[in-house]
Amino acid sequence: MARDADESLPVPKLDVFVGPDWIGEVDLGTPPGKGALQMELSPDGPRIDVYVRGSDGAMPTEQKPCRPCTIAARLVMPYASGTDLPRDCPCCGTPWQGRRVLGQVTAKASGPYHLAQCARCDLILLSPTPSEPVLQNLYVAHKQFTDVAYHGDRAAAANEFYLGRITALLNKVGAAGEPSHILEIGAGLSWISRAAKSFNPNSLTVAQDITSEVVDQCTWVDHYYVGELQATLSEIRQFAPYQVISMTHVIEHLKDPCGVLRTCKSLLDPKGIIFLTAPHRPQGWHRKSPFAVWQNWSYSHVPAHLQYFNTLSMKRCAEKVGLDVILFEAIAEEGQAFEAWLGH
Ligand SMILES: [Zn+2]
Repeated sequence: MARDADESLPVPKLDVFVGPDWIGEVDLGTPPGKGALQMELSPDGPRIDVYVRGSDGAMPTEQKPCRPCTIAARLVMPYASGTDLPRDCPCCGTPWQGRRVLGQVTAKASGPYHLAQCARCDLILLSPTPSEPVLQNLYVAHKQFTDVAYHGDRAAAANEFYLGRITALLNKVGAAGEPSHILEIGAGLSWISRAAKSFNPNSLTVAQDITSEVVDQCTWVDHYYVGELQATLSEIRQFAPYQVISMTHVIEHLKDPCGVLRTCKSLLDPKGIIFLTAPHRPQGWHRKSPFAVWQNWSYSHVPAHLQYFNTLSMKRCAEKVGLDVILFEAIAEEGQAFEAWLGH
């Protein structure tokens, strides 16, 4: 680990643990390794001094125990993801320090990232936010819809599921017998629009996605807009208000999920419903579960999935934008996915 002092080296950081829990990181400064550093455990917790000895910035470190905890500190290199600022909770705004870190995850071309749980709203989030080039590469440069899950028997099962959901949604908003306006955000193959058209061919379907990959296949969509939501908003708004706004497996990808819900609210019919589905938690997961449960979870997509909601974080996010949670169920796929309905 030890190396000669070199001011051109990237500034190293220390990951600091109390027991098994990662509590934060300290920057060793430039030149690395000089002097004593101090960090705060929590707003009302004890302060810990981490003394860094020597001039190479690597090892050794001298640790001052915090009774009754014990501290372990280890050196990590700066993030390679382009932006290394810890991410505040995108749901309730709690700063990075208010997190319980579950562990560290890496992607092929970026990272490392941390997965952490917000102490106030329970949101589990990835930090830092992946850089724009990393996200562009994920969603625009690569084909996403060639997977077997999007075709054949599984596609037929998905069609049946979404027909059931659109029937329930339109019954709830009192528009079951009438043509309605349906908006699908991050639409991809636009399952909901397809179900809405088969339920009532006179309904108007509008879809948005940042990739044009499958637009030509979606003949059941009346208006398919390709681009970021904000960039396509004026076109989408022409057909508002919408009785149903759908985001199926989208909210976990959004850097600002509450901001997007606020935009949805502005497009929603007073009686309308925003329909959400997304990954929830690994099956049987609880706070004491080993981190390997997350790492091995089929829905753990690093760095595509930026957060995982549960009932509390969805409630906080809805409150923040002035919406009510009409329904929240995490029973699909043995609790691994949730469905939420939000309305005025
Ligand atoms: Zn939060």
